[in-house]
Amino acid sequence: MKILVTGGAGFIGSAIIRHIINNTQDKVVNLDKLTYAGNLESLISISGSQRYAFEQVDICNADELKRVFAEHQPDAVMHLAAESHVDRSIDGPAEFINTNIVGTYHLLEVARQYWQKLDDVSKQQFKFHHISTDEVYGDLEGTTDLFTETTSYAPSSPYSASKASSDHLVRAWQRTYGFPTIITNCSNNYGPYHFPEKLIPLVILNALDGKDLPIYGKGDQIRDWLYVEDHGRALYKVVTEGQVGETYNIGGHNEKQNIEVVKTICQILDELQPQVNDVTYETLITFVKDRPGHDLRYAIDASKIATDLGWTPEETFESGIRKTVQWYLDNLDWCRRVQDGSYQRERLGANA
Ligand code: NAD
Repeated sequence: MKILVTGGAGFIGSAIIRHIINNTQDKVVNLDKLTYAGNLESLISISGSQRYAFEQVDICNADELKRVFAEHQPDAVMHLAAESHVDRSIDGPAEFINTNIVGTYHLLEVARQYWQKLDDVSKQQFKFHHISTDEVYGDLEGTTDLFTETTSYAPSSPYSASKASSDHLVRAWQRTYGFPTIITNCSNNYGPYHFPEKLIPLVILNALDGKDLPIYGKGDQIRDWLYVEDHGRALYKVVTEGQVGETYNIGGHNEKQNIEVVKTICQILDELQPQVNDVTYETLITFVKDRPGHDLRYAIDASKIATDLGWTPEETFESGIRKTVQWYLDNLDWCRRVQDGSYQRERLGANA
């Protein structure tokens, strides 16, 4: 199988590509615009594979998308390219509307036109897998409710509203044109190669630099955390075994308050890399003004994917967060090159 992965230079996309190249015989075409969030250094371990190809393309550019489909003839699409950071969507929503909604529309249309011309067998096998978030459901009021695949959409941020819009487009293309789509909605991911603007890597790297560990509000927001490699395994199962027209929620069964997450990281760092003065990293925690529209609780019911496809996460939060902290300690070079911008400067130089 040849899979076209959009956004493959990002956090989750690169995990999927490493998973596919390392564990299957499938081929991958990575289509990525390389925004600030795209980092080809996350793919160094597999980029020499004969089964891997890279195309620097914007999903808003329909002509370039047509060229890539014609040249590579993919059997499936895994669509992850998106603007993904909630804070950035509050400061500047335009790029979120453009990439997440308009870009998804262009990709759907080009993929549909390509699919319509396939022979009957290839047409039957083709799948368009749209990767989305649990944030489309808004937040949960109670402490026991869970998001299921039939929970109504109620997005709160420009990011989640743009992802909700793209989910609606994908469903409409399935319903109207019979285009073979599958949607997955996943909880918060964490793990290796996560861009340092997100909570977990930010806390690890700030702590190592002796900087403040900023927490929104009281830190009582609850998220369900999934180790990114578990997500990669789930997504591969969905694209290969999932039912066309279906939606699958993916979650880690790991509900934690943000403050608990930060304290756990501090405790692991106290053990693995104690501060010179032996004071706990928890003293660096500072509470900052809450994000506007901040959802309080997300929690996923992931029983459908467990029952239908036999997927459950392999990592607990405790095992996954320990692996993650260790990965950052072992890969400070990758982090510093992201933090000082050299991962982008050298790329721009190479492309010039
Ligand atoms: P990311 O920001 O790390 O990566 C996004 C990638 O998309 C980058 O490589 C970027 O260069 C690329 N991209 C952005 N705009 C593009 C465009 N116009 N054309 C082509 N490529 C473009 O994001 P991520 O955390 O890896 O998330 C991937 C997907 O998974 C997103 O669709 C996101 O909504 C979804 N998701 C993320 C999480 C999470 O916790 N990170 C959870 C659930 C769902």
